[in-house]
Amino acid sequence: MDSNIESEELFGAHNYKPLPVVLTRGEGVYVWDTSGNRYIDMMSAYSAVSHGHCHPKLVNILTQQASKLAVVSRAFYSDKLGAFLKKLCELTGQDRALPMNTGAEAVETALKAARKWAYTVKKVPENAAEIIVCEGNFHGRTIAIVGMSTEPQYRSGFGPFPPGFKQIPFGDVKALESAITPNTAAFLVEPIQGENGIIVPPEGYLKACAAICKKNNVLLICDEIQTGMGRTGKFLASDHEGVKPDAVLLGKALGGGLLPVSAFLCRHDVMNVFTPGDHGSTFGGNPLASAVALGALNVLLEENLITQAESSGRYLFTALSKLHSPLIQEVRGKGLLVGLSIKPGYLSAHALCLMLLKLGVLTKDTHGTVIRLAPPLMITTDQIDTVVAAIAQVLSEAEIKVKEGLKQAE
Ligand SMILES: *Cc1c(COP(=O)(O)O)cnc(C)c1O
Repeated sequence: MDSNIESEELFGAHNYKPLPVVLTRGEGVYVWDTSGNRYIDMMSAYSAVSHGHCHPKLVNILTQQASKLAVVSRAFYSDKLGAFLKKLCELTGQDRALPMNTGAEAVETALKAARKWAYTVKKVPENAAEIIVCEGNFHGRTIAIVGMSTEPQYRSGFGPFPPGFKQIPFGDVKALESAITPNTAAFLVEPIQGENGIIVPPEGYLKACAAICKKNNVLLICDEIQTGMGRTGKFLASDHEGVKPDAVLLGKALGGGLLPVSAFLCRHDVMNVFTPGDHGSTFGGNPLASAVALGALNVLLEENLITQAESSGRYLFTALSKLHSPLIQEVRGKGLLVGLSIKPGYLSAHALCLMLLKLGVLTKDTHGTVIRLAPPLMITTDQIDTVVAAIAQVLSEAEIKVKEGLKQAE
C-alpha cells in the first residue's frame, strides 16, 4: 500500500472513503498524482476549486498578503475586510455581509440571525421560532445542521438535536405554504440540491417560494455555498429566476480554492439583530482570507468565468445527453453543476468513478447512484470532449461487464 494512504488509514479518522489516488500537484483543471499521472478534476473539491487549482493571480495575492498581514481577529479593523464585504454586497444585491470560514459556520450564522430576527422584529414568542428546511438538504455537519437533515447516516448517533426545524419536500410550493405558521422565521433552501444528487427543482419553484415567504413575512434564505460563485452560469443560482432572497450564503469557491472563506449576507433589518458580542469567529474576515476572497470575486468577473460556466455547462450537458447507454437514467443540472444518474441494478456510480479514475478523470459519486460533474469553470470544450469520451468508454465497458454477468461485488 502507498505509504501516504497507509498513514491516513492508520492515524486518521475514517470519516471519508477516498478513491485510491494520492494527489501532489494541481494546475487549472488538472491534478497530478505522486506517480506523475495527470487527471482532469471533475470534482473541484465539491465546487471549492471553481477558479482552477492554484490560480496564479490568487496564489500571488495569497503569498503577498501572507507576508504582509494575515490574521488580526475582529478586535481591530483591517485594510482588507471592508473592500471584500463591499464587493460581496454589490454582487449579491444584499445590504450587509458577515464573514465566516466554512460553509457550516455561515449556515449556523443564518440560523442564529433568523431566530433573533423572528424574536426581535417579527415578535415571535420566545423560543417558539421555527425554521423550515427541505427533505434531502445538505447544509453542513454541525449538530444543529445534521439535526435538520433527513439523511439517516448524517444524524445517526449524534442526537439529541436542537428543536425548531421542520422538513418539507423539496420542489413542492404547496408544502411550503402549508408548513408556515405565525412562528415561522425562515425557509432555508438550496436552489439546486448538490449533495443530494444535483436535484433541480421545477421551473419557477424559487420564485413561487419567494412570493409565499414575502406574503407571510418569512425570510427566504438561499444556501448558495455550492450553487453560487458562477457555478450554474449566473453569479447566484437564484438569479436564474430573478429572485432576490432575504439572505444568501456563500462559501466553497469564495475562498478561490485556496482558503476556507464563507459569508452570510442579508438585508439591513436582519443583520442589525446582531450587536457586538452576539456572534463571531476568530478567523472570520481575516486580512488574508479577505484579500484572497476579493481576488476570487474579481477573477470570476475579469476572466468571464460565469458566462463560461453557462456555455461550457450547456456543451457538457448536450454531449452527455447524446450518450446512449442503458446505464444512464438521467442527465440533470445547470451550468457546470451536472449529475449523471445511473440506473440501479447495473454497476454502481462508485464503481464507474473507479473506472474513470484509471482513464484520468477524477470525480466521485453522490449516494452511490449519481456521478457528479462539476469541474473548474475554465474547463475547455476540448477537455470536456476528453471527459465525455472517457465516460462513454466506461459506460460501454460496464455494459459488457454486466452482460457477461460479472457484476462486481463492492
Ligand atoms: C458544502 C456545503 C455546505 C457546508 O460547507 P462546509 O464548508 O463543508 O462546512 C453547506 N451547504 C451547501 C449547499 C454545501 O454544498
